Amino acid sequence: MMHTKLIDKTELAPRLFLLRFQKPEGYAHKPGQFARLGLEADGGEPIMRAYSIASAPNDPELEFLITCVPGGALSPRLVQLEPGSEILIDDAAEGSLLPSRIPGGRTLWLMATGSGLSPFLAMIRAGEIFEHWERVFLVLGTRTLADASAALQAARAARDAGRNLRLSLCISREKEGLPAEALAMRITEALTSGELERLAGEPFSPESSRVLLCGNPAFVAEARARFKALGIVSPRFGRPGQLVAENFW
Ligand SMILES: Cc1cc2nc3c(=O)[nH]c(=O)nc-3n(C[C@H](O)[C@H](O)[C@H](O)COP(=O)(O)OP(=O)(O)OC[C@H]3O[C@@H](n4cnc5c(N)ncnc54)[C@H](O)[C@@H]3O)c2cc1C
Repeated sequence: MMHTKLIDKTELAPRLFLLRFQKPEGYAHKPGQFARLGLEADGGEPIMRAYSIASAPNDPELEFLITCVPGGALSPRLVQLEPGSEILIDDAAEGSLLPSRIPGGRTLWLMATGSGLSPFLAMIRAGEIFEHWERVFLVLGTRTLADASAALQAARAARDAGRNLRLSLCISREKEGLPAEALAMRITEALTSGELERLAGEPFSPESSRVLLCGNPAFVAEARARFKALGIVSPRFGRPGQLVAENFW
């Protein structure tokens, strides 16, 4: 375990924060992996939790998108830290939400709820996925448009860099004043109603689609079941697959 320092903190929306930390010397990660961050606890073991790394591997700092869970043991403390504060970080990044596990296909779907966007920010920023897939769709489910601001910003930067990224936001608690990228429905509704396939102009299929899911376990379970019915499944026991998922809790 190592120590690192908070460089800056941005409140993107009520209860959603971007935190940038110094990157410990020699620290390496692959886009999609997470780090365990923690704080000392009074007289006991430090409290450690997993957080997906939102920055690209070549970024000189480490960035995280963190939801403050009211009453949670660690997240409310993390988002209250001020620049200069020290935290604990595990020696190495880990995790298997890796696009390299599902090669092939034409279209890569990155589907997340809330701060489940984080690993996908790292992939979009790193840019390698655009060399392997002709088209990349980022679909993010949030309650409000403010909760989706990091996705809008990343999509704009990717488009400015000439990347073939399409963004669909599924906003569940606002209907008025939404931008063109937004659907006023839950992400699972957009998935099961066929709305996403309609937007993409192609059906989901094991031949052309590759899917990464991340975030709320209820969303991951429902999406996984929907994709399974279409023959889109995770790699298992050496058999290739088209979908990899990560639950945040
Ligand atoms: C592999 C992995 C990667 C993760 N990456 C991130 C990340 O990038 N950003 C992030 O904010 N969290 C992430 N998490 C969740 C994080 O590890 C903690 O569970 C979360 O911060 C709550 O910790 P806590 O100590 O405050 O709450 P605890 O006291 O541990 O309470 C846990 C409860 O909080 C709720 N919860 C957990 N995470 C969230 C969330 N993101 N949004 C809403 N409710 C939640 C669930 O109901 C859960 O049962 C990740 C989890 C895993 C397993």
